Amino acid sequence: MPNPFIYLDNNATTPVDPRVLDTMLPFFHQIPGNAASRHHPWGWQAKEAVDTAREQLAQLLQTETKELVFTSGATEAINLAIKGVFENYSRKGKHIVTLQTEHKAVLDTCQKLEKWGAEVTYLPVNATGMVDLDQLRESVRPDTILVSIMWANNETGVIQPMHDIGKICAEKGTIFMSDATQAVGKIPVDPKAAGVHLLSCSAHKMYGPKGVGALYVSSRQPKIKIAAQIEGGGHENGMRSGTLNVPGIVGLGKAAALAAQEMREEAHRLSQLRDHLEQQLLQNLDEVYLNGPSSNRLPQVTNLSFRFVKGETLMARCSDQLGVSAGSACTSATLEPSHVLRAMGLKDSMAHSAIRFSLGRFTTKEEIERACQLVTEQVNQLRAISPFWEMFQEGVDMESLEY
Ligand SMILES: *Cc1c(COP(=O)(O)O)cnc(C)c1O
Repeated sequence: MPNPFIYLDNNATTPVDPRVLDTMLPFFHQIPGNAASRHHPWGWQAKEAVDTAREQLAQLLQTETKELVFTSGATEAINLAIKGVFENYSRKGKHIVTLQTEHKAVLDTCQKLEKWGAEVTYLPVNATGMVDLDQLRESVRPDTILVSIMWANNETGVIQPMHDIGKICAEKGTIFMSDATQAVGKIPVDPKAAGVHLLSCSAHKMYGPKGVGALYVSSRQPKIKIAAQIEGGGHENGMRSGTLNVPGIVGLGKAAALAAQEMREEAHRLSQLRDHLEQQLLQNLDEVYLNGPSSNRLPQVTNLSFRFVKGETLMARCSDQLGVSAGSACTSATLEPSHVLRAMGLKDSMAHSAIRFSLGRFTTKEEIERACQLVTEQVNQLRAISPFWEMFQEGVDMESLEY
């Protein structure tokens, strides 16, 4: 990897914190037990380590330990929650409400359930990506069994009004699930206080290892019963069979403990760096637009559209020095604009111009300065050779133009 490389793609995945790695390492070789082995110290030690991790995560989320199911990540936790609710509650109804801006793990799972007879309402969002509470209230019907709304969006960082949504779900007597994968460890997340009954998170978005996550399942007021989606030895109270990933779970627990201790300070530091990056770019360059709200968002992320510049091209030109994400995704041969930005009402050209900068625990002020400089230079260079930028400068009405 080229050095010095600036990594501003922490919403895609975070590096493992060295303190997390140190905690995990003994569980690969020195303490190699299976947490389900009940009859020797190797098993006991592994079980004890898993218990500790469960307590650490429970403390971060203010839940009981028995309400946490370890999984292979947020995608699995989301599949388990949504499919598990549908299987157990479809006698009551088959209607699910979710948001157009959810992660693919939610959207694709809902689409699969539509094939199995579910009816899904995909609620729109406003220009900053927020759900409309009146629209949500109206969409919940007597046969609605699940409302699934993400805590914070991975592309823009917008935070949904979880307590208000929780109240609506309680009034209507429907189960409330939240994909909190981007929120956990970054901002306070308390599912019980918000009236959330099912909640997913993932270690690798909070400085833990990839391939491990958890689902919170409310055990009382109300007690949610979901159907297992992986059968086997009955691990995790029968909700997720399979030998526990002991080193991974230990890593998730340590990551949760560190987040609980350091989240406030880290959020403050990162939001200042993020604001600095954002303000510099908005100052240095014309025709830069913030996608998402300027407040009420995660501290570490900003999503900006650089008009008349293709995000993919900008990203490619910076890729030997800077890692970021673009507002479009390659699906088969075509470049699809982000479904999140599209739902917020961005034109395709503006969605294609978007870049997500996501900072993290190891981002420095010096890196932010360099990233600013690099992006400013590259945007200026790309615009200098853009016929559309030239037309815009000459005063051509670009609104009427496809570009
Ligand atoms: C990363 C992410 C996921 C998927 O998590 P995995 O652990 O990688 O499966 C789901 N939802 C959101 C919002 C995410 O950011």
